[in-house]
Amino acid sequence: MAQRVTVSDGANKKTSRVRVAVRLRPYMGTQDEKDEGPCVRGLDSQNLEIVNWRNATETVKYHFDAFHGEQTTQQDIFLTVKPILPHVLNGQNASVFAYGPTGAGKTHTMMGSSDQPGVIPRAVREVFKMVKAKNGDKAWDHSIGMSYLEIYNEKVLDLLSPGSQDLPIREDKDKNILIPGLTRTTITSFSDFDKHFVPASLNRTTASTKLNQRSSRSHAVLLLKVVRTQIAPPHRQQTGKLYLIDLAGSEDNRRTGNQGIRLKESGAINLSLFTLSKVVDSLNSSTAVRVPYRDSKLTRLLQDSLGGSAHSVMITNIAPEYKYYFDTFGALNFASKSKLVVNKPFTCETVAVAVPVLPVKRARDGHETGGSG
Ligand code: ADP
Ligand code: MG
Repeated sequence: MAQRVTVSDGANKKTSRVRVAVRLRPYMGTQDEKDEGPCVRGLDSQNLEIVNWRNATETVKYHFDAFHGEQTTQQDIFLTVKPILPHVLNGQNASVFAYGPTGAGKTHTMMGSSDQPGVIPRAVREVFKMVKAKNGDKAWDHSIGMSYLEIYNEKVLDLLSPGSQDLPIREDKDKNILIPGLTRTTITSFSDFDKHFVPASLNRTTASTKLNQRSSRSHAVLLLKVVRTQIAPPHRQQTGKLYLIDLAGSEDNRRTGNQGIRLKESGAINLSLFTLSKVVDSLNSSTAVRVPYRDSKLTRLLQDSLGGSAHSVMITNIAPEYKYYFDTFGALNFASKSKLVVNKPFTCETVAVAVPVLPVKRARDGHETGGSG
C-alpha cells in the first residue's frame, strides 16, 4: 500500500523557465517558384531577424534562449533537450514540444528519419542509458512505461490502441494529470520502444491541405513515465513524466483554402494552439490571473508540464521561404512571449509503507495501469 506524500527538495527553491529555442530549416524553394530568397535569417546563437513587411528596408529582430540555423544537426538540437532528462529520473515532470507552421520541420525535429533521428528517439535512448547507469548503485529499481496519443478535433485518441474512443483527461487531488484507460506499455529497451512507436506513428491522422500533402492535423503526444522504487525499506517511489510533443501546424488556416471538414479541424487545432498561447501569457503575468488550462485538450494535458512543476523546452520551427512569411511572424511572436514563462520544479514521491494508513490513498496514477497494453 502506498501513501502519497509530497516532498520538498532543494529543487523547489529555484525556479526553472521554459527554454525557448528557434530552429530555422534550410531553404527549400522549388524551381517553379520565383526565387525570392529567404525572408528570415539568423544573426548569432540567440538572435534572428525577419524582413518587415510594413517597410522592406527594416527588419524585426527577435531574441531567444537559442537560435539554431540551417546547419544545425539533429544532435545539436538534442543537446538543448538533454539537460532536462535527469529531472525525469528524479520524480519531476518535463516536456519538449515542437511548434510552428506545417512544412517548417516539427516532425523532422521530433521524429526525424532513420538516418537523422530526432529528439524522440535520442531522448528515449538517453533515458535508458541514464537508467542503466543508475541501476549500477543497486539502491533503486526503475521501470519505464510509454503511452502515445493524439489530440485530433479536440478528441484524445490512444495511438497504442487504434480504434479506441475519445478518452477523458482528469486531474487527481495532487494535481497530476491522468488519462484513465490510456494504454501504458512497459518498455525495457530502445528496440522495445521502437517496436511500439513506429507502427503507432502510422496511426496518426493525416490529411492533405494546400500547404502540405501530408500535413499533420493533430497533436501527437508521446509520454514516457519513469517510476523508480527504492529497493530497501521504506521503498520510496517516485514517478517522473516526460512529454515529447509534435504539435499540429500553427498556420493561419484562412489562407490554406481549407473548407468543410478541414475548416472544422482547423478551428479545433486553432483552439488548442490559441489556448496554449493564452496559458503562456497567463503564466507570464506577474499578477495572479486564471490560467485557462481547461479551455482546450492540449493545455489541459500540458497542465502539469508547462508552468508550475515542469521543466520545458519549446522548439519553434520556422521556414525561410516568403510563402511562410506571416506564419513565421505568428510563430515568432508566440515563441518570444513564451520565453518569460517561469516553472517551479517540485518533486512528488510516494512512500510504500507496511502498516495501513488512513485515509488510504492510491499510488500515483494507479488507476491508469489497467489499460489495454
Ligand atoms: P512539419 O512537421 O513542421 O510539417 P516536416 O518535419 O515534415 O515539417 O518538414 C518538412 C520538410 O522539410 C520535410 O521534407 C523535412 O524532411 C524537411 N526538413 C525539415 N527540417 C529540416 C532540416 N533541418 N534539414 C533538412 N530538411 C528538413
Ligand atoms: Mg509534421
